[in-house]
Amino acid sequence: MVRTQEARCCGAAVFSPWGWSPPLKARAPLLSSVRGGDRASRLVHLMSHKEGRRLLICPATGHAVNDPVGPFCGDHGARMFSDCPACGSEWSRTWEPRGEKGTDFCAQCGNPAPWLSRTELIQWLKACVQATDLEPAKRRELQEALDRIAELAPDDTKTAAGWDRLRAVAPRVWELAKPVINVLIGEGVRKMLRP
Ligand SMILES: [Zn+2]
Ligand SMILES: [Zn+2]
Repeated sequence: MVRTQEARCCGAAVFSPWGWSPPLKARAPLLSSVRGGDRASRLVHLMSHKEGRRLLICPATGHAVNDPVGPFCGDHGARMFSDCPACGSEWSRTWEPRGEKGTDFCAQCGNPAPWLSRTELIQWLKACVQATDLEPAKRRELQEALDRIAELAPDDTKTAAGWDRLRAVAPRVWELAKPVINVLIGEGVRKMLRP
């Protein structure tokens, strides 16, 4: 896979908990220009807005694109994003050997990233079951059901009973799964689940 855009490093920005900001050296003159009047402060505002858009995340694999030339990833043709669609926070990022990428889950609300596979999403649901206050025996039962589901295809009708059980026993976990249900459960099985 050729990744033309992500290899480019802007080098002009530092990462802070508030997003991209100018390097420390550049910050002092920027701040002093705020005191220079309204026009200068508007300019600073525009610049910081632009700084905030300097890095987008591709939903195909999660790779980050520095200084994007347009809203779409040039390698995957997917519209890129910077904020979590569920909670609106800036999507958190991490480093891996191939470069910067979005984290697999929104650090603010736990929303799963669009590049996670069905297997990874089922692992996530298992972790969510683990975090519930259900009795240990019920948690184990649901996790084993999810393990069985992971081994079967999304449209295998043998998965229906496990999904129904998850919804009945851990409705809050089921709610978490809803936004990614198309990845988890084939259409035929979705029709079989109790309404
Ligand atoms: Zn891409
Ligand atoms: Zn979020």
